[in-house]
Amino acid sequence: MRAYDIIDKKRLGKILTQQEIDYMVNGFTNGEIPDYQMSALLMAICTKGMDEHETYYLTNTMLNSGDKMDMSKINGIVVDKHSTGGVGDTVTLVLAPVLACCGVKLAKLSGRGLGFTGGTIDKLESIPGFDTSLDEDKFFDIVNSIGCAVIGQTKNLVPADKKLYALRDVTATVSSLPLICSSIMSKKLASGANTILLDVKYGQGAFMKTPKLAVKLAELMVKIGSLAGKKVSALVTDMEQPLSQKIGNSIEVISAVEVLSGQKNRLYNEMKELGGKLLSMACSIDEQTAQTKIELAISSGKALQKFIDMVKAQSGDSSYITDTSKFALGEVQNIYTNKNGYVYSFLTQQLGNALTLLGGGRIVKTDSIDNSVGIEIYHAIGDKVNKGDKIATIYHANKNLDQVTKMVTDSIIIKSSLPKQHKIAYAYVSSDGVKYM
Ligand code: URA
Repeated sequence: MRAYDIIDKKRLGKILTQQEIDYMVNGFTNGEIPDYQMSALLMAICTKGMDEHETYYLTNTMLNSGDKMDMSKINGIVVDKHSTGGVGDTVTLVLAPVLACCGVKLAKLSGRGLGFTGGTIDKLESIPGFDTSLDEDKFFDIVNSIGCAVIGQTKNLVPADKKLYALRDVTATVSSLPLICSSIMSKKLASGANTILLDVKYGQGAFMKTPKLAVKLAELMVKIGSLAGKKVSALVTDMEQPLSQKIGNSIEVISAVEVLSGQKNRLYNEMKELGGKLLSMACSIDEQTAQTKIELAISSGKALQKFIDMVKAQSGDSSYITDTSKFALGEVQNIYTNKNGYVYSFLTQQLGNALTLLGGGRIVKTDSIDNSVGIEIYHAIGDKVNKGDKIATIYHANKNLDQVTKMVTDSIIIKSSLPKQHKIAYAYVSSDGVKYM
């Protein structure tokens, strides 16, 4: 077999065999296939696509490139949820303790932020002392006793994806449905849960720019998960505006605590919708019953207590959760609007980039981040605003402030006409097909 022939075959739009995919991916992972040949194949996949079988083989080859988590050490029903990434996406911090109060277990491996999207691990590490690199036994102990724990990837899970993703990132080959699907699903399957809900985001602040494309990605991921014998479904959700109105690391922990304390906002609504689907799938109960359980977990104060328990168990200083004013936020710069009208839309990705420029995100993986910086938005799409209203606050450390102020101001688009309504979810995709909402 020769890499040249496999690249040429895909360039011509032909279907690759499992052996050819194995040859390229394994060869690349162990250093025998050079970057330039793998880049050529990735670009050919981007332009010619892959069918379901090729995508399944690719996912499996990647999955088998490293270790797998063995969730059988956890007693009870183990669930997982995965977001394809967005801005102000703090759902995991709220959903983990909520689910643990509702009788299922979430043993979550999360990532760090890169580019305009934030990462759950960075947010949790903004709680002083919080340990995201527990060994497997301690991780399973906490999940067994508390019901949830969140760590970064400690094992050698899917090394093929680490190498492939780094190459895709610099060769403009990220936006390909089969490549995104195999990258995400190989990691989900290696993480070991049997019931998985995917939160596939579309819009200005997501990888998939349109709901139709997001549905296609969701269908492909659900299919691949089902072929692997897992219960997988996907909710296709709106990322045309930040999910939490607070964007940043410490500030998103504050936002999660507000929701766990009973604040009802967009983050709460989306968490409830995702949690309702996941619980109903895992426990075979109807969605309304599942959502009522979630409401109760929050209104009783149990979910907040569960979050405090998880923070303590992972060595974090839980006094920051009981008193979020302990989080040191940066200096305040307020932004006021000079127009009357309605918040019409957001340049959501630009808000994520603005956070990175403040020092709250990374451009390359090795960048260090400043947890004290953040952006707070006071309105959602459709809100009426008047000239002179405060529309945003930037928490900063005097880094790129003028540029960021302009970026944030330009990201909140105000018009005199009312925008179209934005629903949280556009579609639900399961092995029974697509249900539009
Ligand atoms: N997230 C991933 O893990 N992989 C992709 O390819 C895109 C988003």
